[in-house]
Amino acid sequence: MTANVVIDNATIVHRERAAATRLAFTDGRIASAVPGALRLDLAGHLVFPGLVNAHDHLHLNCIPPLVHAAPFPNSYAWIDAFEHHHDRPEVKAAASIPRDVRHWHGALKNILCGATTVIHHDPWHEAFDLADFPVRVGGNRHWSHSLLLGQSRSDHPPRYGPDVVASFRATPSTEHWAIHLAEGTDDVAGRELAALDALGCLAGNTMLVHGVGMSESDIDRMIVYGASVTWCPASNLGMLGRTLDPRRLFNAGRLSLGTDSRLTGSHTLLDEMRIAARNSDLTAREIFRLVSRRDGGLIPGLPADCIILADVTDPYDALLAARRSDLRAVVRNGRPVIADHDFAEWFAHCGIETTEVFLDDAPKLMARALCRPEATALERGLRMAS
Ligand SMILES: [Zn+2]
Repeated sequence: MTANVVIDNATIVHRERAAATRLAFTDGRIASAVPGALRLDLAGHLVFPGLVNAHDHLHLNCIPPLVHAAPFPNSYAWIDAFEHHHDRPEVKAAASIPRDVRHWHGALKNILCGATTVIHHDPWHEAFDLADFPVRVGGNRHWSHSLLLGQSRSDHPPRYGPDVVASFRATPSTEHWAIHLAEGTDDVAGRELAALDALGCLAGNTMLVHGVGMSESDIDRMIVYGASVTWCPASNLGMLGRTLDPRRLFNAGRLSLGTDSRLTGSHTLLDEMRIAARNSDLTAREIFRLVSRRDGGLIPGLPADCIILADVTDPYDALLAARRSDLRAVVRNGRPVIADHDFAEWFAHCGIETTEVFLDDAPKLMARALCRPEATALERGLRMAS
C-alpha cells in the first residue's frame, strides 16, 4: 500500500549541515510534500540517511572466526590458515546452513544497525531480488576476489571468483569493479597496486578493498587514476595488526568504509565507525561522510531510507556514539523496519505486521516479514519476545 508520511520538527542531517526541515515520504521515496499523510512529530530527534556499508560478504557473518595469536603478513596466509580451521565441526556446521539463510542473516546484521545499503563482495544470490530482502544490495555485479585468487593460468581457472582481467574488462566504466588489494603488510601486498596497474585494471571505477600495504606513491598513483579505497580498519587490525592512514584518501574523496564480514571484521557498521575514529584523525562528521551516499541521501526522488536517533548533542557525535539499540527507528523505502514501540502507529499506517523483539535487551518492534526464524536465530543480541 502507498504509505504517505511526513516527519515534522526533526533535525535532518546532511553531509555538510543539519537543519530543521520537513521530510515527506511517498511510494517509498523522499518527496517535497505529500497529501493525506501520517504526520509524525519528531521534535528532539535527528534523521540521518540510511548508512552505506561499502564492504561485506553477507553469507559469511555466521561462520565462527579463526582465532589466532599473531598477525598474518597478508590475507593469503590467513586464507591458508582458514582452510584448516574450516575442518572444525562448528565451522562445517555453520557453512552447511543454506546460503539463502546465511545471506538473510548478513542482511539482518546490517539493517539492524541502520546500514540500509550493502556492497556485497561475492556472487549475486537470488535472495537479494526478493521484495522483502532486508537491505539494498549493490556493487557485486563486477568484481574479482583478489590478485592471487583471481588470476587464470594457462592450465587452470582462477582459484576463486571471476578472472581479474576478464571481469575488469567486462565492467562498464560507469560502474564500480571491486577487488581486495594490498591486504597485508609484507612485500607480497606491497607489490599488488603496481601489479594491478600493469594488468591494466587500475581506473576511475576500480574499488580497492583494504589497501593496507600501499605505499605513499601507490596512493598518489591511484588518486591520479581516480580509483577508490574501501577501508575496513577492524578487519585489518585483527588480521594484520595494522591499518592504513586514511587522511589523504579522505581528502581526495576516494575513501569509503566497510565492515567486512564478522569472520574478520566488526560486529556492526556503527562499531566500525568508532574503530575508524579511534585509528585516524577523522572527525565524527568526516566518518559520517564515509558511510553516506555521495548525493547526501535525504533529497526528493531518492529512496526513503533513513535512521532516527534522539537528539542529544552534536548530530555527528551522536551517530558516532550510537549503539544499534539506541536507534529509535530504521526506515527502508519509507517504511519502518525496526523501531521503538511508540512507533506502532507508523507500522500500522504502512500495513506492516510486527513482531516484538529485544535487540541487545532493548524492546523493539520489527517488521514480521524480516523475522525468518532460521536467520534471526543466528544473530547474537536479537531475540523474539515470545
Ligand atoms: Zn572482503
